[in-house]
Amino acid sequence: MSEHALIVRNLTKSYGSVRAVDGISFAIRRGAIFCLVGPNGAGKTTTMEMIEGLKQPDSGEIVLLDMRLPQELGRAKQMIGVQLQTTGLFERLTAGELVNLFRSFYARPVPAADVLKAVSLETKSDQLVSQLSGGQQQRLAVALALVNDPELLFLDEPTAGLDPQARREVWRLIQSMKQREKTVFMTTHYMDEAEKLSDEVAIIDYGKIIAHDAPRNLVAGLNKANVIEFSTDSDVTDNQFSGLRSVSAATVLNKNVVLYTTDVKECLVDVLNLSQSLSFEIKDMQFRNPSLEDVFIELTGRMLRE
Ligand code: ATP
Repeated sequence: MSEHALIVRNLTKSYGSVRAVDGISFAIRRGAIFCLVGPNGAGKTTTMEMIEGLKQPDSGEIVLLDMRLPQELGRAKQMIGVQLQTTGLFERLTAGELVNLFRSFYARPVPAADVLKAVSLETKSDQLVSQLSGGQQQRLAVALALVNDPELLFLDEPTAGLDPQARREVWRLIQSMKQREKTVFMTTHYMDEAEKLSDEVAIIDYGKIIAHDAPRNLVAGLNKANVIEFSTDSDVTDNQFSGLRSVSAATVLNKNVVLYTTDVKECLVDVLNLSQSLSFEIKDMQFRNPSLEDVFIELTGRMLRE
């Protein structure tokens, strides 16, 4: 048995002239939580759907749980769980009926009650799917991916649109998969979520993987001790800040300034002097440690949500 649950080599997919996935290669260790992060349109869903067998790659190799795709897709499907988008759920069924429908696709399904309990919906078995809240429907979609007790679970933006409590519940579920030595492949555009949950993060941008490592290694690789963030009342530019001696890098977007520095005190003095000479106000100043979001900014020169 390979130490990797998934190996992808030179995977490519274009839609017309758009190269959605541009020759990516990566591997996921068995038992790891792997997170593919990137901005809208970066190629996350296309990548995941090719691996799930839902989309045909133009070229590349996929080895899923030691099975080659597409040749062994039928067998592989028995061992993976795929979360569907909630808009695709059958709204006229109850949560329990829907779980049982999905259980019927597998030879040895998990009891329906266990599946619903795993996502804290055990009291909602008799409720129509249409009467569940958005967050409950999202959790039900995750539950449907668990009916065959999969070795590898695919979750595409599993917490998109969830309130903080529902988000934490999905996080707990993902962590419980890891405790049971299962592998999780998820996408998200919440960097904090990727940083908190995953053993490994791959950052994808314009169809290419631009970084892949443990989140703490990616952040440590920045070699920037502190971040100072604030907004201004007038237009300022990156260059005005990156010229300061105390600033190692600067990004300005929509009057929001992010500065990296190894000397906070000197940086503050420099910024205050600049605000006087250029006559801008400083609002909502914050100090923080660098995060995965900063890794993205460093690599691309853009913020994740521009
Ligand atoms: P999001 O975070 O918005 O879901 P994503 O990273 O999952 O984005 P994809 O959905 O994989 O990105 O899309 C990658 C690129 O391919 C985008 O430019 C998108 O517009 C394009 N694309 C995706 N699906 C199709 C399709 N069926 N036909 C044409 N273009 C597509």
